[in-house]
Amino acid sequence: MDCVNLPILPASATPADALRKMKAAERSAIVVIDQNGSTWLALGGPIAEAWANGVATLGDIPVTHTLVTLMHTPGFENELSLSNPRSTQVGYERLFKAVAPNHAVFFGSGPPSDLQNIKVTVVTASEALLPRLTMLGAYICNGPKPRHTFPDPVVANGQNCAMCPSSLGSTVSLVTV
Ligand SMILES: [Zn+2]
Repeated sequence: MDCVNLPILPASATPADALRKMKAAERSAIVVIDQNGSTWLALGGPIAEAWANGVATLGDIPVTHTLVTLMHTPGFENELSLSNPRSTQVGYERLFKAVAPNHAVFFGSGPPSDLQNIKVTVVTASEALLPRLTMLGAYICNGPKPRHTFPDPVVANGQNCAMCPSSLGSTVSLVTV
């Protein structure tokens, strides 16, 4: 398991909002929260794709990674540290086994109604996911449409797009909006 702080935006925010927020936070994923308090993880790749396709809001992007908000998960409070998740690894592993999503999320400070000022920590079951959350924003290739978006897999600015035929010489660059 591992944990990472991520920015959070309401489902009504635009993909461009998310791209700006991710870049400012030096992250490549964002936590999205809807009116009912449900949360999910949106990776930079699908957000960049939505932006390129003119999708209106984050809520219009298909959800791939649902999250559990710990303060709404009865039965686990005593064995999960919110301030130092690594100190209660066994508890988190039990949580990951008990619930379908592979991630947990909690609001480290401030009420969920004050999204500008709260800090969100996402605990991931797999350490392998972490590099896909902590790139410096989202990336898109300059190949023919539909263009490939990243992370997933992890890429570096300026590298050749591994998803395009190598004969095209497409390269990957940070999305700036
Ligand atoms: Zn490509």
